[in-house]
Amino acid sequence: MEPSQKTEFCLRGIGCAPGVARGKAFVFLQRDVELPCYKLDDSLIDSEIARFDAAVEKTREQLNLLSAEMRARANEPEAEIFDAHLLVLDDPAVIGETEKAIKSTRINAEHCFNSVTARYIEFFSGLEDAYLKERAADIRDVAQRVLRNLLGKTQQHEGPDRFAERIIVAEELTPSETLAFEKSSVSALLTDAGNHTSHAAIMARSLGIPAVVGLRIATLRIAQDDDVLVDGEKGLVYINPSERTLDSYARISLRRSRLEIRIAEENVKPDLTADGTPFKIEGNISGKEDMEKFRQAHIDDVGLFRSEGIFLRTDRFPPEEMQYEEYRQVVEMIPPRNSIIIRTLDIGGDKHISGSLLPPEDNPFMGFRAIRFCLEFKDIFKDQLRAILRTSVNGNVKILLPMISSIAEVVAAKEVIEDAKSELRSRNVPFDEDIQIGSMIEVPAAVAIAEELADEVDFFSIGTNDLTQYMLAVDRGNEKISHLYDSYHPSVIRAIARTIRAAKSAEIPCTVCGELAGDPCFAPLLLGLGASALSMNPASAPRIRYILRHTTMQDVNKLAHAVIHDANPRSIQERLTIFINSILPVEM
Ligand code: PEP
Ligand code: MG
Repeated sequence: MEPSQKTEFCLRGIGCAPGVARGKAFVFLQRDVELPCYKLDDSLIDSEIARFDAAVEKTREQLNLLSAEMRARANEPEAEIFDAHLLVLDDPAVIGETEKAIKSTRINAEHCFNSVTARYIEFFSGLEDAYLKERAADIRDVAQRVLRNLLGKTQQHEGPDRFAERIIVAEELTPSETLAFEKSSVSALLTDAGNHTSHAAIMARSLGIPAVVGLRIATLRIAQDDDVLVDGEKGLVYINPSERTLDSYARISLRRSRLEIRIAEENVKPDLTADGTPFKIEGNISGKEDMEKFRQAHIDDVGLFRSEGIFLRTDRFPPEEMQYEEYRQVVEMIPPRNSIIIRTLDIGGDKHISGSLLPPEDNPFMGFRAIRFCLEFKDIFKDQLRAILRTSVNGNVKILLPMISSIAEVVAAKEVIEDAKSELRSRNVPFDEDIQIGSMIEVPAAVAIAEELADEVDFFSIGTNDLTQYMLAVDRGNEKISHLYDSYHPSVIRAIARTIRAAKSAEIPCTVCGELAGDPCFAPLLLGLGASALSMNPASAPRIRYILRHTTMQDVNKLAHAVIHDANPRSIQERLTIFINSILPVEM
């Protein structure tokens, strides 16, 4: 591509998924559909009903197409969701009542259809049964599609080609939107909101899409089709890049790819430090679509399977069977001698499912999230636990409980696990009776009682993403305070050290599975602090291995000792940066 004729300007955000990309901007605005409301002339009633029927028919064709596409990709669970959406369209009540309302009120189709579906959504949301409640989400989804077709708008998530090779610019992206963009093979993602541990950022990293978040004003400064160059490592976004910028990026890309080649060449060597001490790298995944990258990275064990994937993709609480299929496929890809840690549902925070079980909250990260939700909706929790337990005959599966803040939560969760086991026993379904249960350590309260918690579980896994946000009271997704989200803060590092010490004295393993595990600056420190394993996005594994192979235990222990006695975040940052620069030039 030629350099841009327009004047270059640069925006600086938080680089959260490396890679350089150039392309045309697609400014993606997620506004609710605005509904017109107007009176119809008597002579227009029939044609209004015909317009409504045509929109319903078009929606039916789209859903049939989506369902067929999912089946062609052997994705039966998602195909079934679109089938369920088709049933909503076949419901004579919803369609018939809308037509009747158009006739009797003489108001346009959008308004009438919206009123009818709103009533049904309210009705289903108010039901006790969790699954019936979730039908509200189906109706809402279908209603949005029909309304868009009535208004002549296309679904923003569909028509993958519209996004292919484009640089997506959005105010904020949810994890499910990020997933949808991956299917469209976009070139890069830019958002006004977020920081490097928001879930959309983590997902972009694992999908290998260059991404910059926390840009604050990207949607205001970047126009549709602008020429944009993205540096996902440094967090820089050049709009209308000049010849000079393009030349300099050509050189940077060359240097980076030479280093990548060196790292890739060494990736198959044994995981031993330079003085021969073994270290352990594990992978974080969100579903079977991550397994290709997992294998390419030569990782053996899954240290964290974020099980929310299927819930977010389907935007509902899927039944046991559907979950079992999803987990089983992943478990069977891991040889039985290796382990796979499946974390139970960590919904809430920035991970939403539409529907009334998770209403909007003022402080979602401090609210009805993860284990708190599961202990309230035990049936949903048990569906998942039975699905996980059943996969334990297909491999070495372990259960990990998220967002634990008290012993009582672990005890209550273990009771639900026992109930799920009894239910399987009464169905004569086999599972691993001794399945290991671990606790995420990601809330300061858990750190403070780590010694006692260690007596209740078989292993710990430190979630540094949440631990940092809760330790420092800094919302991990809020770009206004992202400068305060500082993992170099001694409180975070000392909390990690304390947790590892507690695990060691209880003789249980302690993995680190937050983003710090895959951060070149932090990985040597975590090894020096004594973490049993570092579990990371597979894409980060080759680089972290390279670093740990080029250091000695003596050096990382010395580093950990110095850092743990340092109370100044900036001096800790300097120590870690000097250390890593002696092995690998991270900033280029
Ligand atoms: C964490 O909090 O560090 C973690 C691994 O979990 P998640 O990012 O999914 O909240
Ligand atoms: Mg977490």
